[in-house]
Amino acid sequence: MIEKSIKNKVTSTQKMEGLGYCEHKVTDDLCSPFDRNKGIVKPTVLLHSCCGPCSTSVIERLAHDYEIIVYFYNPNIDDPKEYEKRKKTQKEFIDKYNKDNKLDISFVEGDYKPEDFHKISEGFEDEPEGGMRCPRCFELRLRSTAHKALEMGIKIFATTLTVSPHKNYRIISAIGQNIASENNLQFLDIDFKKKAGFQKSIEISKEYNLYRQNYCGCNYARRIQNSKKQESPEEEKGRKIDNEQ
Ligand code: SF4
Repeated sequence: MIEKSIKNKVTSTQKMEGLGYCEHKVTDDLCSPFDRNKGIVKPTVLLHSCCGPCSTSVIERLAHDYEIIVYFYNPNIDDPKEYEKRKKTQKEFIDKYNKDNKLDISFVEGDYKPEDFHKISEGFEDEPEGGMRCPRCFELRLRSTAHKALEMGIKIFATTLTVSPHKNYRIISAIGQNIASENNLQFLDIDFKKKAGFQKSIEISKEYNLYRQNYCGCNYARRIQNSKKQESPEEEKGRKIDNEQ
């Protein structure tokens, strides 16, 4: 049902009071191709989402300025049951949020092929979360988002990944910008954990009673996470600070 509304969205026009109102400095040329017609100003962003809870505060922050299409592409989630659970949670959140706010946010699912993730992880299986495997995982997901954006004629893409305090914003930003320039797209380069974005995501997830997983996604990190359960609070704190730098 959500998917069906995309067709309408990409051919519809939305008139507002002129360009340049947006806090993200959207310019007229980013409103094309399907947004551009007389007076159209709300551009579309293809928002890669890792899960429903992380998408909550990001969607809330962007919905005023953008038409949002959520792109659920996460082959890093090894367990198919877990994948389905996160996908269902994502769709439920979009449905409810649309109803509550009279919005028309859409959902698109990418290919679910864990083997693609395993391929880019080769040689990095023993890295912890925040280690050298993660930038490869970010790149896989952002590259797919950019390609999907090109396929759909959308010029702007973004990701919810930066809302997590466990993920390094600077690395995600550099990867996103690099992919954007290779494909003549714009990466919406926002550290969504700022402005209390992470805290807000927890609050909205509670409000909508969303399933919140307790691990990132891949079994490699989960295995290490389980074996580190005895880690001292000081070590854990140090790891988080490293990731935020
Ligand atoms: S820990 Fe998370 S970001 Fe890092 S490789 Fe695994 S799924 Fe990807």
